Amino acid sequence: MLCGQACINKTSSAKNPGNLQYILLTHGHFDHILSVDLLRKATGAPVLIHADDASFLTNAEHNGYRFFFHRELAMQPADKLLRDQDTLPFGNSILRVMHTPGHTQGSVCYLIDNIMFTGDTLFDQDIGRTDLYGGSMDDLQASLRKIDALPGNFTVYPGHGSVTTLQKQRDYNFYLKNI
Ligand SMILES: [Zn+2]
Repeated sequence: MLCGQACINKTSSAKNPGNLQYILLTHGHFDHILSVDLLRKATGAPVLIHADDASFLTNAEHNGYRFFFHRELAMQPADKLLRDQDTLPFGNSILRVMHTPGHTQGSVCYLIDNIMFTGDTLFDQDIGRTDLYGGSMDDLQASLRKIDALPGNFTVYPGHGSVTTLQKQRDYNFYLKNI
């Protein structure tokens, strides 16, 4: 989960002192959505996810909770569904949505200036698994090619593990080097 805090259009309130504007999901796996309803209730900020992962919020078969814990896990549906190349105002910048399927069908990266949030698509020297619901190594490789083709360098904030840069991953990530 990624929380957008930089928009300046709204004044902050007691309910939302950090002026949170979006709750942006990189994908719908249970470990990325568990606090979504609490955060939405606490702040009133809308939850956004790519359309292809929309069902993950309400289906434990899709979000992996049933597979790992043999239990149901259902959140409220998303407030807005995202598509590739959607843009959102983000402070003085524009946040861009880049659809990067593979780890899940609706995985996305969020790009703001020279920063990218890669969810479970790209980690420091690793990539996300593709053996869960909707995963596809072919799709992930195509997504890695898209990421590799981005011009310039980005600071990369993955969904797990260390912060890194895109250039370091181009240089040292086995999967990015061998696509
Ligand atoms: Zn995941």
